[in-house]
Amino acid sequence: MSSIVRQPLKVTIPHMGNYVIAFKALIEGLGCEMVMPPPITRRTIELGSRHSPEFVCLPFKINLGNYIEALDSGAQVLLQAGRAGACRYGYYGEVQELILKDLGYDFRMVCLFSGGKQFDFISSIRSLANGVPILRILRASYLAFLKIKFIDEMESRVRKLRAYEIDKGKSDRLLQDSLKKLSCVRSARGISLLRKETRKKFDTVRTDDGARPVRIGIVGELYVVMEPHANLDVERKLGRMGVEVIRPMSLSSLLRYAVFPFLSRRISREGRDFIRYELGAHAAHSIGHTVEFAHTGVDGVIHLYPFTCMPEVSSRAILGNVARTLNIPVLHFSFSEQTGEAGVDTRLEAFVDMLERKRTFRTDFRPQTKTTTDSRLTFEV
Ligand code: SF4
Repeated sequence: MSSIVRQPLKVTIPHMGNYVIAFKALIEGLGCEMVMPPPITRRTIELGSRHSPEFVCLPFKINLGNYIEALDSGAQVLLQAGRAGACRYGYYGEVQELILKDLGYDFRMVCLFSGGKQFDFISSIRSLANGVPILRILRASYLAFLKIKFIDEMESRVRKLRAYEIDKGKSDRLLQDSLKKLSCVRSARGISLLRKETRKKFDTVRTDDGARPVRIGIVGELYVVMEPHANLDVERKLGRMGVEVIRPMSLSSLLRYAVFPFLSRRISREGRDFIRYELGAHAAHSIGHTVEFAHTGVDGVIHLYPFTCMPEVSSRAILGNVARTLNIPVLHFSFSEQTGEAGVDTRLEAFVDMLERKRTFRTDFRPQTKTTTDSRLTFEV
């Protein structure tokens, strides 16, 4: 008697920072095989750009490059976060599917939030994991959620530690070591133990307690903010310059806003003196967070967005007004596949240098709410 062994579906999802570790837990928890897209390289970006409409935003091109490389490695199902949205993200799924089919690839595209609603997630996952019990789906989703929280907690710790550590690069090495272990952990208890172990290791990092680093807040478009290859590793570069980076946007925070939309509205309301309507995507958050930074003594803000991103191009103009009114310097970076690293480095160094000198000359510096006409507080890149 011959028995038929069903091969697991080969599923992939584009990179976004370290979160691919959590997506892997979700996919494998559903009984599918994860096809990890190769790490993002120049080739990935060139592949994606070659087959994308010229003026589409950078995340589209990088995602497409990830899909092509994963399909070449045998992926059968492509996961996409959603088809709904108040910007071009709403069309990513359809357009990428058409492009890839035109290129001759045979696959299925599954959108996790196909109608833009939270509950679409369950039905999309069920279509992927046909016949998998609901309890197993919930367990896999919970494990992925715990991994996302772990990644966000540890990355946030490292963004701070980089500015104070004496042995430069130690916190980054510890983070990489923990992330490797995280991708092998398969239970909530295992994640909890790893969290304790990683926190203890971070506690052993020797720090310069007398340091008074410049503090910079990061705002902008979610993918470019969270994917180091898209922003040319701005956070790590700042850390190496001894800057403490504060980045409110993370996948945990986006999930929180999806479940509790009033939290998202609260951030948008912070910017109500400058904008009273939604700009699409998370552009209103860029303004709300910048206002919060100005009121909490953060030295400066870096605004990251992809070239041609409509919501963030709109927020950029408003951020100029925020910078002048609240006396907080804002540096804008617009990224495309053409952006050169040397230019980014030079402007970052000049910005940090300016913030350090601003502190030296203005030891009384405190965030202000009076209007100023100093137009030199915004910087173009
Ligand atoms: S927010 Fe901007 S970059 Fe992101 S998908 Fe929308 S238009 Fe593109």
